[in-house]
Amino acid sequence: MPKHRTEDTHEPRPRTGTRPDRPRPRHRKPARALGRFVPLVAAGVVLASGGALAAELGDSATSDPAHALGAASGGNVLTAAELDAARQEQLSRGGGRRVLEVEQRDARMVARLEARAERLQARRERERKRRAAERERRQALAEARAWRPPLTGYDITATFGQSSSLWSTVHTGVDLAAPSGMPVTSTAPGTVTFAGYDGAYGYKVVVEHENGTATWYAHLASLSVNVGEVVSHHTVVGPVGSTGNVTGPHLHLEVRPTGGEPVDPVAALAGQGVHL
Ligand SMILES: [Zn+2]
Repeated sequence: MPKHRTEDTHEPRPRTGTRPDRPRPRHRKPARALGRFVPLVAAGVVLASGGALAAELGDSATSDPAHALGAASGGNVLTAAELDAARQEQLSRGGGRRVLEVEQRDARMVARLEARAERLQARRERERKRRAAERERRQALAEARAWRPPLTGYDITATFGQSSSLWSTVHTGVDLAAPSGMPVTSTAPGTVTFAGYDGAYGYKVVVEHENGTATWYAHLASLSVNVGEVVSHHTVVGPVGSTGNVTGPHLHLEVRPTGGEPVDPVAALAGQGVHL
């Protein structure tokens, strides 16, 4: 029994004894060990192809590693083609593992990239919604602050500065003729500072706006707001009427910057984007 050869080293060692009693599997050696034998394959082939030669070599040849390979193969020396096939098989297996590892690594990378893309997408979506909400808020604010005509339909029958026997001085506002009962709305947000009857003005509402400008709504049929009420351009201050010194139903609109003397409402409202 050869005791100089161990299973764990797989290294052929010079033999001085007889051939092993037990044949060994042909492919028991790992490719790594087989690879080392490849340069010796030629010698092995020689031995395999010439049994007589091996016999001639006798024990004197057992010190040759190639001969040891033959012995380790149970006496059947691997041919060059078989060794090459074994190497290729092992290489392909190793290559397969590497391919698998690369594929797994790529899959992990793809998963990470997809997760990142999803996070980016979610962030973009949140940002888009935030901007949309901000835009809506600004639009709502702009809408709330907007100035609008006080009537949906009218004819200008008297302009600012006109002279008429109806007025003690020149005309202090603009007359917007409209059917009785048509809702008169505030031209802009503000606070009602007057709501009552005022002689020639008839029923009158005064709204003071954010910039200090006051708008007057006169000849109303009645009053729809009270002093101190906060209004917007949606708020109806009263219906068109013909109270006070008038010849017919219309809205007398005045604009008085910072509570001062009246100015031309057409020009003043144009400054706020409202073109009467
Ligand atoms: Zn008037």
